[in-house]
Amino acid sequence: MKIGFIGLGNMGAHMARNLVAAGHEVSGFDVADVNIDGVLVAKTAAEAAMGQDVVITMLPNGDILRNVADQIIPSMQSGACLIDCSTVDVKSARAVADQAQNAGILAVDAPVSGGIGGAEAGSLTFMAGGSTAAFKIAEPLFDIMGQKAVHCGDAGAGQAAKICNNMILGATMIVTCEAFALADKLGLDRQKMFDVVSTSSGYSWTMNAYCPAPGIGPKSPADNDYKPGFAATLMLKDLNLAQQAATTVDAATPLGQHARDMYASFVADNDADMDFSAMLPYLQDKTYN
Ligand code: NAD
Repeated sequence: MKIGFIGLGNMGAHMARNLVAAGHEVSGFDVADVNIDGVLVAKTAAEAAMGQDVVITMLPNGDILRNVADQIIPSMQSGACLIDCSTVDVKSARAVADQAQNAGILAVDAPVSGGIGGAEAGSLTFMAGGSTAAFKIAEPLFDIMGQKAVHCGDAGAGQAAKICNNMILGATMIVTCEAFALADKLGLDRQKMFDVVSTSSGYSWTMNAYCPAPGIGPKSPADNDYKPGFAATLMLKDLNLAQQAATTVDAATPLGQHARDMYASFVADNDADMDFSAMLPYLQDKTYN
């Protein structure tokens, strides 16, 4: 396929590289001059999108996505497919899908889970929203960049799935860290707690696969001075998106709200960008009141 790729940052660069390695012709654009082996450099977003079968965007937020969509949709050919893999608000995802549809272009919102490591390894999970026809075009590319793609429903459904997943992830990480901090003060050995919880009803991805305690469980950012991984700032972004969506549809999400507030404090109190599992040393230093 002929593919335009816009947004060649931490995630996008790896994804574009994997598409090239699979034999696709990729034309890339990023406002920061980025050069990737095998990716043709376009001078503008519109140039990267022109005449392509598929255009993929991997951008920081919904405002930037809307701005880029305004630039690229007029230069895309009718019947082409726009796949947005950024994490953005549901409203922006739906607005861009409408804009594409009005121009005769298919659209899929397809945010990802799996982080920079998953992007590099081609093992991302895609959660997609859009028509079946659009998903069918995107699916072979998801297979290259990832290990699983779920068609979640119509436009915006991918973003909805992403923020629900990450709201669970954020709240679960916090309570996992709280449990370690409590165990410490109760004199319970961390390894013993891991051995019990990881095989009992308190198990979770945050405990079993991404343990926030250094030296316990599989290798995780905790074993690398809490370098991300998945940065706390990105977790805060997703928790804010979840709250924005919850307000829009009037959904009760008290724990999600509290998790957002805790990551907001965490990010404000930490200078460097740390992994979201560094909530453990943060809580360890705090007291009950
Ligand atoms: P990033 O900041 O490294 O990359 C974004 C890129 O977009 C940058 O290179 C930037 O220069 C470029 N950009 C900004 N405005 C542009 C414009 N107008 N035109 C063209 N390029 C523009 O971010 P990232 O970590 O690659 O994340 C990308 C998206 O993926 C975000 O929405 C993020 O929330 C989501 N995400 C990230 C991770 C992760 O672990 N990094 C995991 C899952 C999802």
